[in-house]
Amino acid sequence: MRSIIEKTFNERFGGEGTMYASAGRINLIGEHTDYNGGFVFPGAIDKVIMADMRPNGTGRVRVFSIDIDDYAEFGLNEADAPSQSWARYIFGVCREIIKRGGKVEGFDAVFAGNVPLGAGLSSSAALESCFAFALNDMFNGGKIAKFELALIGQSTEHNYCGVNCGIMDQFASVFGKKDNLIRLDCRSLEYEYFPFHHEGYQLVLVDSAVKHELKDSPYNRRRQSCERVAARLGVETLRDATMEMLDAAKADISAEDYSRAKFVIEEKQRVLDVCDALIAGDYDTVGQKMYETHRGLSKDYEVSCEELDFLNDIARECGVTGSRIMGGGFGGCTINLVKDELADSFIATATERFEKAYGHKPKIYPVVISDGARKI
Ligand code: ADP
Ligand code: MG
Repeated sequence: MRSIIEKTFNERFGGEGTMYASAGRINLIGEHTDYNGGFVFPGAIDKVIMADMRPNGTGRVRVFSIDIDDYAEFGLNEADAPSQSWARYIFGVCREIIKRGGKVEGFDAVFAGNVPLGAGLSSSAALESCFAFALNDMFNGGKIAKFELALIGQSTEHNYCGVNCGIMDQFASVFGKKDNLIRLDCRSLEYEYFPFHHEGYQLVLVDSAVKHELKDSPYNRRRQSCERVAARLGVETLRDATMEMLDAAKADISAEDYSRAKFVIEEKQRVLDVCDALIAGDYDTVGQKMYETHRGLSKDYEVSCEELDFLNDIARECGVTGSRIMGGGFGGCTINLVKDELADSFIATATERFEKAYGHKPKIYPVVISDGARKI
């Protein structure tokens, strides 16, 4: 990928730029916890966006996307937004840096990536953090703090791409470190690295390639349940609730709200348990917690779907150490912690049986926990 980017840069702009990269991400555990003030546990992966960049001494940005085979050129004022949606991620990053008092001048860029788009690995965060990191390095002497770079990516999604996302994706993409997962406390925004030396194990994503569009707004309804229970328990978010508190108030809470809150309270604890297990090198417990999360998402939070439960069942039958839905639910991927010697047979079995049941093959993405945004 690097050489084709360099070649294209040279053909379009002449000479060479500086190469930057950033990564997509997985989340090992900690689902639907962010808006409840709990923990998430992401890591950057070896699927990246790479961009060759160089200031061009003008007030204009000229950028070519190899994957989309499209060119965009735009100025740096609010009125200069490009029409192409892919270019708006880059324009947004420029604007968000400028709005925060940072410096961005014209530059030339050629970029490409191998983070699958829309598969739940956050290609958009990889794109934003790659450019945010690069513009910080090229024009701001690296002075913009890393957390600010993540916030710049998040604000880009909110203000220029119409996606009202949380901070996890951009955070993981900016802060990602090889062989480490990062526990982010979504209430205090404090974070801690935990070593993920999974010798003997692989992480394999199985993408069902289905996305169920639901008529009512299931995410809002889940959020409302959580807020109602938190209010009933007298806490700001479910982060501060315990199962004892929930059970004591059970009579006043609807069965549905009870199940939702139970999942969130248990999931908070599971993230902490997984961190302890990783420190102890106990990958069996890590995997068991992943299965518990899946069951909770499926039975209590009710955000699974037939295809994802099917993939989870296959994982269990194949002896996979841990497996769960990754992401919001109703489609997308499962993340699987698989012993090396079982990986090939699991992938073959999941592919064959899923295709037989649903008429198309799932997409398989083995991933390795790797560095996030960087100069390369
Ligand atoms: P994801 O879950 O992968 O983040 P999104 O819909 O949020 O999916 O973001 C995908 C969008 O990001 C693409 O439609 C495109 O605009 C942009 N994008 C991601 N990767 C690339 C790439 N390699 N080249 C060009 N644009 C990309
Ligand atoms: Mg995205």
